[in-house]
Amino acid sequence: MKGKALSLWQRLKMQLSGYVYVGDRQRPGWTGSLPFYAFKCEKHGIVQDYPHGYWALWKDSIPIVVNGVLSQLYCLKCRKEERHE
Ligand SMILES: [Zn+2]
Repeated sequence: MKGKALSLWQRLKMQLSGYVYVGDRQRPGWTGSLPFYAFKCEKHGIVQDYPHGYWALWKDSIPIVVNGVLSQLYCLKCRKEERHE
């Protein structure tokens, strides 16, 4: 899936709901895979991320319900920049 462009249907769905599921992925060091979603960042364009816990709502994050659990999507590039400020 890596680097694969979004299909027209995925783009449409993303515009309607704010995000679209792009597949389960595993990162190095992870024991399992997590669902990844594509969404639009005002600054970085279309980015992909997995849902994060909702313990603190980041600004500009997108609320998402995964398996009945409220989570959030946010742009990791933006979060990284904030930490360096
Ligand atoms: Zn961003």
